[in-house]
Amino acid sequence: MMERISADVAIIGGGIMGSSAALFLRRTGLSVVLLERDLCGSRSSGVNYGGVRRQGRPPSQLPLSQRAQGLWAQLPQLIGIDGEYLRSGHLKIARSEADLAALESYRERTQGFGMDLQILSARALRERCPWLGRAAVGASLCPDDGQANPRLVSPAFALAARRLGADVREQTCIDEAAHDGTAFVLRSGHALEVRARHLLNCAGAWAGTIAAQFGDAVPMESGHPEMAVTEPLPVFLNFSLGVEGGGVYARQVARGNCVIGGGRGYALDEQRARAQRSGIASLMQQTIDLLPALRNAHIIRTWSGTEGYLPDRQPVLGPSATTPGLIHAFGFAGGGFQLGPAVGAVLADLVRDGQTATPIDAFSVSRFSESPRVATTGPVPSAVV
Ligand SMILES: Cc1cc2nc3c(=O)[nH]c(=O)nc-3n(C[C@H](O)[C@H](O)[C@H](O)COP(=O)(O)OP(=O)(O)OC[C@H]3O[C@@H](n4cnc5c(N)ncnc54)[C@H](O)[C@@H]3O)c2cc1C
Repeated sequence: MMERISADVAIIGGGIMGSSAALFLRRTGLSVVLLERDLCGSRSSGVNYGGVRRQGRPPSQLPLSQRAQGLWAQLPQLIGIDGEYLRSGHLKIARSEADLAALESYRERTQGFGMDLQILSARALRERCPWLGRAAVGASLCPDDGQANPRLVSPAFALAARRLGADVREQTCIDEAAHDGTAFVLRSGHALEVRARHLLNCAGAWAGTIAAQFGDAVPMESGHPEMAVTEPLPVFLNFSLGVEGGGVYARQVARGNCVIGGGRGYALDEQRARAQRSGIASLMQQTIDLLPALRNAHIIRTWSGTEGYLPDRQPVLGPSATTPGLIHAFGFAGGGFQLGPAVGAVLADLVRDGQTATPIDAFSVSRFSESPRVATTGPVPSAVV
């Protein structure tokens, strides 16, 4: 027999976006049902690199990213655990003078955003980071950026929402979503029907299908960043590292394992992805150029994930262009983990007040409505951390 439930807000997708929205919405007192096909935090949100960085984002994302930075500082109060969140600093390495000039220009352009970026010359860098290889000619340091454990943090948002009274339904795939003129009606096979006044589309790389059902077609592609982790090593790496222009990023956790990302994996099927052996080999070569200490390190695990990319590499965040009450939050390619807490807060603002003080115009879904559909094939860059 079909179970029928209703709530003020239904959320499709229990990644960090949907779970954080559920948490903030419960704080406003609205009733919430969070619908997750698998387990909350089992997709991008739980398998990412764990970079909690503002540095390197386009200025249009920085107000949202700054709001997130404030929420990360309150993580234990928000979700009940520290999630191994550490403000270790994010060091973006230049491997050429041109890269260093680009870092300097970025620092100039983003001075009003409170990141306190510090440019380090080759000499200053070598004094501060004697473990860096010769590939580095300078860097930009964002001292308060950092890292966290996505496997702990993302599911904890859903658990915290449940503790506050959200109805969290895992292993519940929504395969029908429509508006009947009075409310949104969602169905999961013949098992569940949900009615809600508001619907949040937080379905990650799969959100484009839901958006399209409501006439908000977007040219989203899937991408599969590649990740590897080493055996535990003596701790030496005290920053989360990225490189200007992308390619490789690395951090070391307290247990000594180095988490490394870069390159592209491949899709096993619509939901699962794998790292490529050849990609990991070239990733390790780049990593060793930066971190010679990893020359003989064993890789103990590799993995990938599936995330959604829009052509301008900006997310969609905000109301549907066609359907009142529907709000989208997807396409956070390579940078959504850090933004997650603020995206949840913004979604709660939009449901409660119909607006938010955080600038999100750049992320409007209507930016795609005028343009012809872009081909969904072609290169997708790896996560730029
Ligand atoms: C390998 C990798 C490394 C990354 N590194 C970083 C990083 O260092 N820093 C950073 O800030 N960001 C990083 N990112 C990006 C970040 O992880 C994502 O932007 C973010 O997690 C997206 O969260 P989400 O909630 O939108 O999506 P997801 O976590 O994918 O959640 C969407 C959920 O929706 C569910 N769903 C989909 N369709 C349905 C349906 N029909 N019914 C029910 N449920 C459904 C899915 O099962 C999924 O759990 C990385 C991503 C990857 C893959």
